[in-house]
Amino acid sequence: MKKIAVLTSGGDAPGMNAAVRAVVRKAIHAGVEVVGVNRGYAGVIEGDFIKLDKNSVSDIIDRGGTFLRSARCDEFRTPEGRAKGAEQLRKEGIEGLIVIGGDGSFTGATLLTNETGIKTVGVPATIDNDIACTDDSIGYDTAMNTIIDAITKIRDTASSHERAFVIEAMGRHAGFLTLAAGLAGGAEAILVPEMKFNIDEVCNNIQAGYEAGKIHAIILVAEGVEIEGQEFTTNRDVNQSNAFIIGKELNERTGFETRVSILGHIQRGGAPTGRDRLLASRLGAAAVDALLAGETNKMVGLVHNRINIAEIKDAIEGNKEFDEELYQLANILSI
Ligand code: ADP
Repeated sequence: MKKIAVLTSGGDAPGMNAAVRAVVRKAIHAGVEVVGVNRGYAGVIEGDFIKLDKNSVSDIIDRGGTFLRSARCDEFRTPEGRAKGAEQLRKEGIEGLIVIGGDGSFTGATLLTNETGIKTVGVPATIDNDIACTDDSIGYDTAMNTIIDAITKIRDTASSHERAFVIEAMGRHAGFLTLAAGLAGGAEAILVPEMKFNIDEVCNNIQAGYEAGKIHAIILVAEGVEIEGQEFTTNRDVNQSNAFIIGKELNERTGFETRVSILGHIQRGGAPTGRDRLLASRLGAAAVDALLAGETNKMVGLVHNRINIAEIKDAIEGNKEFDEELYQLANILSI
């Protein structure tokens, strides 16, 4: 393989730049040319390519977002769109494509491979950390730290005014990010889609905490928690959010002065943590190794701190196991 391409697609995540840097430099090390695709699959279809050399990825390891930019591209959901994309890649002499993104992007990649023979390898990047076949995805650690930082700041004001705060975290339908940040941030209650909860119980626990001398309460709720009558979508109205609904319940049932904070897109930004840079560097390099070894339709991940090459289909279709023990531990420690 003489020439490969790399793109970032779907929701951006801190560490995507570090992953592109690793792809470029590992490929150069192996004597392979690398092309960057701007704006994900939209750039594949349009042939929006840029040649990347080792200097084009200087000073990006510490930058959030993605300098290749990301886009959502409906045309790539059609076989015609993918055929057009394959033609653009072939015209450029590109034999393999590294896709840095989430499960939607991986679905596009596997269809491209199956229909056109272009070799693809996926690199998991999403703050939600809901992709199977890898312990962690790029961006998750940074987002977790952003939420912890927010909890710390909000706790200062919560303590000063003896208020309860309901904070809403991202994660779409998954609660991995909320659980980890809630435990590490010392939240008094953690509500995630994977675990049923009883609002009376949550309120009683918060009340008991106050009676035992706590002067603040932080309830961290995942955006995807299902509340009766509420359908989760990522672009719903603010006052339909879980945080508002739970905050209102808490206030009505306990009489506590309650405030609501929806963290929103600050969770997707910021300089990647050391851990995310390390993960991105390892996975980006492993993706190049995999392509050069002739692999296709695969996703590189990290399992028990070792590089793991999985069938991309398993990563897309597999359900990442929710750690109930960790959830129980968070409950025990939050008293
Ligand atoms: P993520 O990769 O973060 O899950 P999306 O679901 O938005 O993000 O997917 C990113 C892009 O991948 C889409 O805009 C589209 O171009 C492509 N894609 C997603 N799902 C499919 C699909 N079922 N078939 C083909 N392409 C898809």
